[in-house]
Amino acid sequence: MKFVDEYRDAAVVRSLADAIARVVTRPWTIMEICGGQTHAIVKFGLDELLPSGVTLVHGPGCPVCVTPAELIDQAVELALRPGTILCSFGDMLRVPGSGIDLLTAKARGGDVRIVYSPLDAVAFARQNPAREVVFFAVGFETTAPANAMAVLRAVHDGVKNFSLLVSHVLVPPAMRAILGAPDNRVQGFLAAGHVCAIMGVEEYGPIAAAYRCPVVVTGFEPVDILEGLLRCVRQLESGRAEVENAYARAVRAQGNPHARRLVAEAFVVTDRTWRGLGPIPGSGLDLRPELAAYDAPRKFGLKPAPAGGAGECISGEIMRGVKKPLQCPAFGSRCTPEHPLGAPMVSSEGACAAYHRYRSWSGVAGRVALVT
Ligand code: SF4
Repeated sequence: MKFVDEYRDAAVVRSLADAIARVVTRPWTIMEICGGQTHAIVKFGLDELLPSGVTLVHGPGCPVCVTPAELIDQAVELALRPGTILCSFGDMLRVPGSGIDLLTAKARGGDVRIVYSPLDAVAFARQNPAREVVFFAVGFETTAPANAMAVLRAVHDGVKNFSLLVSHVLVPPAMRAILGAPDNRVQGFLAAGHVCAIMGVEEYGPIAAAYRCPVVVTGFEPVDILEGLLRCVRQLESGRAEVENAYARAVRAQGNPHARRLVAEAFVVTDRTWRGLGPIPGSGLDLRPELAAYDAPRKFGLKPAPAGGAGECISGEIMRGVKKPLQCPAFGSRCTPEHPLGAPMVSSEGACAAYHRYRSWSGVAGRVALVT
């Protein structure tokens, strides 16, 4: 297979769904970790091809969704700080903080720039030596190498007016937190293929063994996802709990050693609070102490703001697989993409945004057809 259409082939998808139906003898609940996988599932209606016993729940792998409001508040504070340019990926701009969002900060005169790479922010810093340039470094293991490269480039080139506001999170500790919760219902995981392409798969073996939970490394196209589900269901039905790689075209067991080395040069593991999930020990990355001059909270003396409540938003229950977006009473009424109450409604990887966009009841876009 060489082209993306081949991973959206309706006949192959149906044959995989049929294979799953032949294997399943009892109910199973499986969580896809990544919001990209969630969007593919909802976009192509893959969940509706599955036998009724297989329930898919949607995990916390949406970086925008898990960035705490307190950090968005800090980003807003930096954006409104005179002489500062706050650079961010575009999907952070409409995520509610405890006060205003970054788009409102921009409307009030804050200098907020949308960039496509953290290296663009380093370039801004070079072009604006009299200004301070801060990049809002949000994301999982996938974006950490590029952010590491940016700060290491700034150090190497002597760009002293550049810094990071870091909100990096790590997948395996969140999986442990989900599996260890008293109300957990997840019995198998589709791990995020792009995270494993960076980090490899070695962290997942102890999780599968400790919680008797199969972990199948899975890609993002319909054929990838159903192949991952088939492997996961086969394990569950046969009582196995192993790590399998169903995304071998992109993932090697050891990941990407060069990217991992970059991450280790710039970051250390730290405790982090996840929006909706709360504090998870050892679940984040922060800049190494020797890079303190490039750490925006230390550089500008930002105080950690007290954590606010989630209000009506039940994103924590959704990201733990306890509920699904359509079970939120605010969905589509008080919470819409135009007026979001929570980040999953505005993020391009948010589960609520996927349901709002692709489920036909919403009348917005409707499901996307597979290739026939
Ligand atoms: S629909 Fe809105 S309020 Fe409900 S969980 Fe999703 S983002 Fe939160």
